[in-house]
Amino acid sequence: MKLAWNAGDYAANECKRCHKVVRTRFELRTVRLARSRLCVPDVLVDVCTECDHMVSIPPQSVPQLREAGVGK
Ligand SMILES: [Zn+2]
Repeated sequence: MKLAWNAGDYAANECKRCHKVVRTRFELRTVRLARSRLCVPDVLVDVCTECDHMVSIPPQSVPQLREAGVGK
């Protein structure tokens, strides 16, 4: 299993919008936190190549989001 993803890497994941397993690409995106409504720039996320939906956030990006959402 791969431990760290890089922008431009490809994977396969289930897209909730397409309702199927799709090819996904890792990209750096600005992620908006649902709870605090904070926008965190340059977060590595998994994006559906078919509909551009953000499929998942890899575990390696979670601390980055947590840091942005806490203590501000
Ligand atoms: Zn999709």
